[in-house]
Amino acid sequence: MLRRMLGILLTSVLLTVGLASASVVTSAPAHADSCYTWGRSLSEGMTGDDVAQLQIRVAGYPGYGDVLAVDGDFGPATAAAVSRFQAAYGLTADGIAGPQTFGQIYALQSPDCTPLHFSYGEMNQCNGDWSGGAVDPATAQDNELRTMWKLEALRHALGDYPITITDGFRSYSCNDDVGGVPDSRHLYGDAADMVPSGYSLCTLAQEARYHGFQGIFGPGFPGHDTHVHVDSEDYQNWSAPDCGI
Ligand code: ZN
Repeated sequence: MLRRMLGILLTSVLLTVGLASASVVTSAPAHADSCYTWGRSLSEGMTGDDVAQLQIRVAGYPGYGDVLAVDGDFGPATAAAVSRFQAAYGLTADGIAGPQTFGQIYALQSPDCTPLHFSYGEMNQCNGDWSGGAVDPATAQDNELRTMWKLEALRHALGDYPITITDGFRSYSCNDDVGGVPDSRHLYGDAADMVPSGYSLCTLAQEARYHGFQGIFGPGFPGHDTHVHVDSEDYQNWSAPDCGI
């Protein structure tokens, strides 16, 4: 009897709590995320670290051959990238990052800020601490984080088939071991080698041109017949002759 009364009491408490939260849900801010939470909607003309955090996550949507600057300054290029991100996920493509856009980003990111389908572990198959490369460890890791968000955009654009990362950051020692070129972008942590499933290497290399990669090497370029390499060096450098690139 006591248990039944407690049960009824508990049910009514839960109902009350449920109704109360239901009544405020429409005015609540976007749900907190363990990685990063935006506190305001962002649109053209705004500046701040929250803009930079947004730019990192939409940098895979700059348009063909372009690169989106992560500078904390929400200009026309950022608005265009936000619009492409929104369109890619079926949201209203207005170029303004509000609750719907942030909600989609929260759904895409893991607690460590990496996008859902890529991880620090696969982007560093060389060592555990990102040391020994051409930049300091924190920079190398941050560069691979930015690379992963571009890869997430690339993966989504090609139908969300899995992409296997075969190599990412390399120390000088790891670079020597695999016979990498002396100034390889892998030393900077902004490169990835990958193999797709569900479509060809050429399809992957061709689509990569739309997602913010300055370096793209694939079939027909020496040493790249069995994988596609992408990176974010300072100038555009694409070569995959067998793919028309
Ligand atoms: Zn490579």
